[in-house]
Amino acid sequence: MRTLMNPTFCTEEQLKSLVEIINYSVENSPFYKDKLNSVDASFSIEDYKKLRFTSKEDLSAYNQKFCAVPKTKIAEYVTTSGTTGSPISLFLTKNDLQRLAKNEKDSLSMMGHNSDDLFQLLTTIDKQFMAGIAYFLGVQELNAGIIRLGPGAPKMQWEAILNYEPSVLIAVPSFIVTLIDYAKENNIDFENSSVQSIVCIGEPIRSDDLSYNILGKRITDNWNVKIFSTYASTEMGAAFSECTAQNGCHLNDDLLFLEVIKEDGNEALHGESGEIVVTTLGVEGTPLIRYKTGDIAKIYRDECSCGKQTPRLGPIIGRKNQMIKFKGTTLYPKAIFDALEEFEAISCYKVLVQKNELGNDEIIVLLEDKFKTHSELDTIKDRCREKLRVLPQFQFMEANKLRGLVYKKHMRKPEKIKFM
Ligand SMILES: [Zn+2]
Repeated sequence: MRTLMNPTFCTEEQLKSLVEIINYSVENSPFYKDKLNSVDASFSIEDYKKLRFTSKEDLSAYNQKFCAVPKTKIAEYVTTSGTTGSPISLFLTKNDLQRLAKNEKDSLSMMGHNSDDLFQLLTTIDKQFMAGIAYFLGVQELNAGIIRLGPGAPKMQWEAILNYEPSVLIAVPSFIVTLIDYAKENNIDFENSSVQSIVCIGEPIRSDDLSYNILGKRITDNWNVKIFSTYASTEMGAAFSECTAQNGCHLNDDLLFLEVIKEDGNEALHGESGEIVVTTLGVEGTPLIRYKTGDIAKIYRDECSCGKQTPRLGPIIGRKNQMIKFKGTTLYPKAIFDALEEFEAISCYKVLVQKNELGNDEIIVLLEDKFKTHSELDTIKDRCREKLRVLPQFQFMEANKLRGLVYKKHMRKPEKIKFM
């Protein structure tokens, strides 16, 4: 049994896979050829911790140099948004697609799903996104069936649910709220539908203490379904997923090596938070060694009640480059979003962060005009003060103008925050 004193989870198998991927990268990846040396069988976890980190900036600046296979071996090109907003490409071989399939099969099985399930996919499968294709392949690997509907169109989603009777939905959780609202407005008997569980991607459904957050509550208060958290990124080509115990998202230790690193450079202990750093095991196209994801989460290192000993991650608290230093406290934008999203009256908002003349961050929350005289404004302010321990400035703007600032044509997601 592992002790909590030694925080790095590393099995013998993993150490072997680390040696393999490091040597593979030194040999095949033009980026790592210059940056790392090959290692031998004496390689230890202490040696690993001395290797340089790979940053998102590296991946963005030297994108093509990360490709470790000849062009003819690339089976798929996927993209993810870079630090400057321009997309970063990831190069996947046929084996990498198989690795994705294995990852999602393992994730779906861990949640208790099997080949008898029918899945409905409510996420984009084209536009070079990874998640949709990963789940599609994973469902095939599980020998289950899939209805590949894609995002949006609540009417069509319900028609398919009533017609084919899927047991599982794979979706962005905020869209599930839309689905519930649509069913209520149109007298669809959603409570007696075939859907039993929902695999939630892209947004957290739990708070820091692993209880449901507002979004999670909005779904489970209205619909008797099981909802599962996941955490994934295109770069790592693998996902952390909840098991049936729903007590944090498990590491798939066949596919990733995980470190969670605190501000002081040390590894986070059980229950502490830090930046998620991964090495992709078994990847051929775009291997990444000690890749700093920029995502901050808590790590849980005790044995899970499901029996698995792999560490688990809590929901993403924020992004490292979005840490705000505000009136002596440190906070992440998500805490502000959470406070505002508790109010159903707020359908659109934008947070601006700017430095004042003293070099401190100032936070401005932009709301629609109607809130200037809205009866809930004081309650909103109280809630922010309570949750953030400090009160941001509130400013008001004409509704359409505000929408234009949040929903920008060239962006994949609404721009809820801007660092000025
Ligand atoms: Zn578990």
